[in-house]
Amino acid sequence: MLWLNKRDRRRADQNVMRTMRRIANERTESQAILSSLNVGIVAYGSDNRLIASNPVAEIYFGVIPDSLDSFLDRFGADNGMRAAYYLESDDVSGELDIDGYTLRLVCQQHPLRIDGERFGGHIITAQDVTQFRRQEEQRKVFVANVSHELKTPLTTIKSYSETLLDWGIDEKSRDDIKSDVTRIYDDSIRMERLIADLLLLSTIDSSRLHVQMVLFNLSECARQICERFKDQASAKSIALDFSVLSLQSTVLADRSSVERILTNLIVNAIHYTEAGGSIRVYAGNIVDDFYIKVVDDGVGIDQTDLDNIFRRFYRVDKTGSRAFGGTGLGLPIAQELARMQRGRIEAESEPGIGSQFTLFLPSARRILRESLFEVSKREKPRDAVATAAHDTVRRWLDELSGEENVKYDTGSFDLRGLLDIIDRKVNDCP
Ligand code: ADP
Repeated sequence: MLWLNKRDRRRADQNVMRTMRRIANERTESQAILSSLNVGIVAYGSDNRLIASNPVAEIYFGVIPDSLDSFLDRFGADNGMRAAYYLESDDVSGELDIDGYTLRLVCQQHPLRIDGERFGGHIITAQDVTQFRRQEEQRKVFVANVSHELKTPLTTIKSYSETLLDWGIDEKSRDDIKSDVTRIYDDSIRMERLIADLLLLSTIDSSRLHVQMVLFNLSECARQICERFKDQASAKSIALDFSVLSLQSTVLADRSSVERILTNLIVNAIHYTEAGGSIRVYAGNIVDDFYIKVVDDGVGIDQTDLDNIFRRFYRVDKTGSRAFGGTGLGLPIAQELARMQRGRIEAESEPGIGSQFTLFLPSARRILRESLFEVSKREKPRDAVATAAHDTVRRWLDELSGEENVKYDTGSFDLRGLLDIIDRKVNDCP
């Protein structure tokens, strides 16, 4: 009997231990879940006392108030949450700006059952919507800018054509009529350009721009574009010269995007340089990056404007950008296009002395060598440049081995041979 009692007691002890372990495990698990959430959680019990909170909530709120009332006094007074709570509204939620974050707070009553017991407390969730609100703000500003930019030429078109229709055609001289019609025509061109730029930006923003990454010689591309604009520059008595500082400059990029970027930089240099000035275009390299530098001795840009010229619609009015129909979208588009090729544009300038805009692009040799290791590690291409690089490497590997679809991810291929091919093909690129 005694033996049985002892055994029963031991079993009972073991059961207690097991239950305690289970509770401890469940507690650890729920704490781990709470901690891993990237949403702030604060829970108050049915007596409105603080029961739990997670680390994210502590980052947002600091020391968490120990009762629901004091939480709502501190964080729910200005956003209507406290009032909604006391009026027993179904929706107790609001936004809170705190320490640079914009949080969306939702307070819900939870008639949950925990271990058979009703839990009538409140759970407050805090979600970081800072990025979302910022994007929304930018979108609003963008739409306001677009409307303003479209409205300006439209107003001119409307008022000039109204005047002509009302009395101008009958009463104005032929020359005046011609000048009014020219004004209407110029503004319709401005609208057309603006709409084309906006459509291009929206295609870039939504990653729908069709790009074709190919190997080509960046210096040669820049030389051809300089050639194309020589006449336009000399019509304004501006000298446009091109010099090559590095012989080999093969890039893997979308040629038409690069042409567009260089065209924009050169056309800007022509616009913002006075008659008799000069523009020099240099092609060179810094270690593994190639650059095209467009240097003018034009009007220049002061530091405040320089910090803003890559912002959409930003124009420096005193440079007369509006007068010749600038949209203020040229440089932002150029910068986006450069980023798509893993490049960038940098600007330096001094008012009255001139400006220097430099397009940097990574060398094809570097991209292709990097992609060799990416494909051998079976990494997925992370952008359009990598997709083209991986395809090119695979094609050359097939060429090297004389077979098709050689397994490049087994590490068994001729690495030295492939590196030599990359160097040769890159050097031979016309
Ligand atoms: P825009 O269509 O007005 O030329 P951009 O985005 O190409 O728009 O340029 C933005 C602004 O930067 C221009 O309004 C102009 O004031 C300034 N800018 C650009 N390039 C030059 C330059 N080479 N010299 C002086 N100012 C320039």
